[in-house]
Amino acid sequence: MEKKLDQLKQRLLEVNDLNAAAALLYWDQSTYMPPGGAPARARQLATLQRLAHEKFTGPAIGKLLDALRPYEESLPYESDDASLIRVTRRLYEREVKVPTELAAEMSRHGAESYQVWTEARPDNDFERVLPYLEKSLDLSRQLADCFPGYDHIADPLIAYSDYGMTVATVAQVFGELREHLVPIVQAITAQPPADDSCLRLLYAEDQQLAFGVDVIERFGYDLKRGRQDKTHHPFETKFSIGDVRITTRVQERFLAEAMFSTMHEAGHAMYEQGVNPAYEGLPLARGTSSGMHESQSRLWENVVGRSRGFWVYFYSRLQQVFPEQLCEVPLDVFYKAINKVERSLIRTDADEVTYNLHVMLRFDLELAMLEGALEVRDLPDAWRARFESDLGMAPPDHRDGVLQDVHWFMGQIGGVFQGYTLGNIISAQVYEAALKAHPAIPDEIEEGEFGTLHGWLSDNIYRHGRKFTASELIERVTGQPLTIAPYIRYLKTKYGELYNLR
Ligand code: ZN
Repeated sequence: MEKKLDQLKQRLLEVNDLNAAAALLYWDQSTYMPPGGAPARARQLATLQRLAHEKFTGPAIGKLLDALRPYEESLPYESDDASLIRVTRRLYEREVKVPTELAAEMSRHGAESYQVWTEARPDNDFERVLPYLEKSLDLSRQLADCFPGYDHIADPLIAYSDYGMTVATVAQVFGELREHLVPIVQAITAQPPADDSCLRLLYAEDQQLAFGVDVIERFGYDLKRGRQDKTHHPFETKFSIGDVRITTRVQERFLAEAMFSTMHEAGHAMYEQGVNPAYEGLPLARGTSSGMHESQSRLWENVVGRSRGFWVYFYSRLQQVFPEQLCEVPLDVFYKAINKVERSLIRTDADEVTYNLHVMLRFDLELAMLEGALEVRDLPDAWRARFESDLGMAPPDHRDGVLQDVHWFMGQIGGVFQGYTLGNIISAQVYEAALKAHPAIPDEIEEGEFGTLHGWLSDNIYRHGRKFTASELIERVTGQPLTIAPYIRYLKTKYGELYNLR
């Protein structure tokens, strides 16, 4: 059995290496590649994707998984070997249902589509991306149809990123959350807006980047196993547990952009750096779901990074970096500025309270497209109408409307946005559990110390990689299934105080 397990691991490492090479090509495309490299890069990514898919779904891995079943059943559920076999089988059974040609085409189309989007967005040109979006929708439907028997066509797409969740379960959680959010948003936006002009002065790029890197090193992001570069749309990517990179974007006239995106991506990266090194190169060596991943990025970005306690320590340091801009601005004004709640256009810049409305809008629109209830060419109108009804404003153009997020321009429509709001919900639930275990965490944060929190997250979440599903992990860590109650408590406490809500 040990020999069979070694053979399985060998094959899985080869698949991993092909995927890691593709990830590196994608990272390069998003950071340093000149535009002329785009057509060949799309082909190169598709080639690697095809090879990885063929290798993974060929008969060898299936036979090894069959042969290893008795061994798996003889082991406890939590053992590393049993978990590796179980998770590999789940992925294998999913991937064998997808024709290699479709996987390669989605990859090729995704790379082309991304390139077109990077040019169409600055030009405010929806017509240019329209045929690409239509093809993405068609490919996404084909992908979903590889898994017949679903209740909703988006279910198989959601299962890719948030295994265990469906349209029905997500819609129920979102519905409950929405009932709490709408009155909070109304109560806050009825008040005069907070003054965030201090964030909109001129802040030199290099100093912004250096400050962000200092913060995330203190969080626990290991720069010997990572680095940060600039891109259009920030992301985290991993080539091995020893090389987990992040990207950011800087606006010299908006201090919050790079700062919080750096904390956010570092949250993702610390999760990946913290996986048990014994899982290197194997399917267990990554975060377990997009919701769980997002909970870790939002925890560091918002629950920690936008807390008053965090700035009790870091604000004077920031003032030293930018004395002209900030020396006259008191901590409380700055704290209110970084937590300004307003109806706004851009999801990634949205405050914690309205953010989820941006996500729900996208989730509902992509369901409508997948169901065939909304034509892609009508998407900008539908976007505008929904934006007005939910956020009380209309986007002035496509650039800051329907073209703002990269997700629909990477080859697939559906199955991604729900993870953001699930992440917010889980971040509060996990943080409550961390505080229960270590009530001194907030005091440590006020002293710029994050070791206890980072250590607790490593032991309870990061280390396990994909061994447990998101729902198993939430139950283990918090003693409860997914619940919105901690998140509502968190929002009501923080914003109740900031905006004197009853
Ligand atoms: Zn994220």
